[in-house]
Amino acid sequence: MSETAQQRSRIMRAVKSRDTKPEMAVRRLLHRMGYRYRIHRSDLPGKPDIVFAGRRKVIFVHGCFWHGHDCPRGARTPASNTAYWTAKIARNIERDHETVVQLANAKWATLIVWECGLRDQTALADRLKAFLG
Ligand SMILES: [Zn+2]
Repeated sequence: MSETAQQRSRIMRAVKSRDTKPEMAVRRLLHRMGYRYRIHRSDLPGKPDIVFAGRRKVIFVHGCFWHGHDCPRGARTPASNTAYWTAKIARNIERDHETVVQLANAKWATLIVWECGLRDQTALADRLKAFLG
């Protein structure tokens, strides 16, 4: 397998799994901080990854590449099937935006945690605390 094909299949595998590694890392951190939550509420727009029903707050954990984050990892362009990936990621960005708007209209607050934001766990914990209160 070429490197890009290998990369692509790794990305596809990561996308297929619901409990992706970055999401699990955020859940573990929240748990350690004493927060309790539900996951993958399919009755809410965008099926949020982590749901705090009492607070009407949700968290999405987004992969930087897949959701087109404005960071070095998100700016990476696959060498093959470039048009396919570019279009797909553009659709994801659009869908993510619509989801936040729909949730806001239903009086739910949304926090997006990016994969690249997991490296600094202290900063992330502060952000989570600020968001959740
Ligand atoms: Zn990023």
